[in-house]
Amino acid sequence: MLKQTKYIFVVGGVISGVGKGITSSSLGLILKNRGLKVTSIKIDPYINVDAGTMNPVEHGEVFVLKDGDETDQDMGNYERFLNLNLTRINYMTTGRVYKSVIEKERNLEYKGKCVQVVPHIPFEVIERIKKAGSIADADIVMIEIGGTVGEYENILFLEAARMMKLESPKNVAFIMVSYLPTPQKVGEMKTKPTQHAVRTLNGSGIQPDILIARADVSLDKKRKEKISLFCNIPIDNVISAPDVDSIYDIPLNFEKEKLSYKICDILNIKAKKPDLNAWKKWKTFAKHSHNGKEIVKIAMIGKYFETGDFVLSDSYLSVIEAIKYSSYIQNRKPIMTWLNSTDFEKNPAKLKELKKYDGIIIPGGFGSRGVEGNLSAVKYARENKIPYFGLCYGMQMIVIEYARNILGLKDANTKEVNPSSKNIVIDVMESQKEILKNNSYGGSMRLGEYKAILRDGTIAKGAYKIKEILERHRHRYEVNPAFVADLEAKGLVFSGRSPDGHLMEIAELPKSEHPFFLGTQFHPEFLARPLSPHPLFTGFIKACINKKK
Ligand code: GLN
Repeated sequence: MLKQTKYIFVVGGVISGVGKGITSSSLGLILKNRGLKVTSIKIDPYINVDAGTMNPVEHGEVFVLKDGDETDQDMGNYERFLNLNLTRINYMTTGRVYKSVIEKERNLEYKGKCVQVVPHIPFEVIERIKKAGSIADADIVMIEIGGTVGEYENILFLEAARMMKLESPKNVAFIMVSYLPTPQKVGEMKTKPTQHAVRTLNGSGIQPDILIARADVSLDKKRKEKISLFCNIPIDNVISAPDVDSIYDIPLNFEKEKLSYKICDILNIKAKKPDLNAWKKWKTFAKHSHNGKEIVKIAMIGKYFETGDFVLSDSYLSVIEAIKYSSYIQNRKPIMTWLNSTDFEKNPAKLKELKKYDGIIIPGGFGSRGVEGNLSAVKYARENKIPYFGLCYGMQMIVIEYARNILGLKDANTKEVNPSSKNIVIDVMESQKEILKNNSYGGSMRLGEYKAILRDGTIAKGAYKIKEILERHRHRYEVNPAFVADLEAKGLVFSGRSPDGHLMEIAELPKSEHPFFLGTQFHPEFLARPLSPHPLFTGFIKACINKKK
């Protein structure tokens, strides 16, 4: 433990999506492996108070923290790389900051002062950053400022960072992650956009200590010299970050560049030598991410991944990572194919194509579009004994399909899709009724960590090997208790329930009926970590491998 908390700001230049999140996570990991206690903060400059009200196609996955905060997908990267559990103090948006400044003003906490955008907004930002550090008892706080320098939106956050540096120059460092394009026709890597980005950052009173240069390939000496000279950065602190096949190589590449030593120098930190044991584990994992001799083919059925002519799998980032970890550990390379559920509605013959896959996943979702397609895919998976894993909405689909086709309740549905159905097998939760009536949608679902009790002799219990589990949730609807007895009488097993027995957390078919047919009301993907894959995903992948055999 250091006596003094150190703050490392990570900002982006030239393009968005340059990899600040992965850079912050990787930097955090190399410092953690030198015995430092690290925590992370993500700053998103939009007005939304949290990410929960945004369409995943706009913004990517909504990552849910254990305390129920609905955040940016980068928070998932931090938790996975650093094996941490973060809370709402680690996440900040413009909306969140303004909201609390306005609330404080209403409570007379500014004691009659004129409350102004500057300095009160940056002051609030600084207070939150320091609080996150002290709650985590951190040596290092990594702070990623979303967006790109030069954008109007993140100026007040840069202003906060500048003030922190002024207050304590030895304890604050700046890293810029920038992009160096190589235009095809020119054939030469260009440094000018990065030079401009650094100048723009200088305009906010900030000089980067380290520049991480993202590009197709490593920088040559000439490019490094140019950046060093024109951006005012010692040449040793211009670090190449070429494209890689696996993001999990990045911490290893950074360590090869001695990045942790450079940061410790800048911040005057006396850290331990890198923990070789920890690195060995990470290296083995990273190696697996390239190895997988055999493949396992997973169909992902959903709707949040089409944007124009592109497929954006970001909406399900944690699901993808969870599949990878559980595949790597079984020495398999997962190949994931994105199938649009509405295609099964337009062309039911397409269902037959599902035979090509070793397993099927239906992840979380909202609203009625594509639901009938989902239900036909679940029926196909059940009847053809293809391993099926349903996450949240995907679990509710199991219950609806079973009610329709096994219990014979032809109009069975979720209230979310058809409120006038006679057989509402998935009903709105009691606690949600008032919320929906008042249209108070923001941050009001059943969110975050809740306990569930597992039933002996089930697939779920066999996977977890423990009786009580804690998993993260994000939903408004639940299995209607009125139908539970009928569903169980016909063979569906509710193998996980809330401690009071009221809420169905896991539904499955016994192994004698189906190799793997299981759904969870919670989102197990949020707890999958590189070095500790999630037991249910591991069980699912195992079933997929067996089907292949
Ligand atoms: N729409 C469903 C509900 O609100 C499922 C939510 C989800 O998949 N996260 O209950």
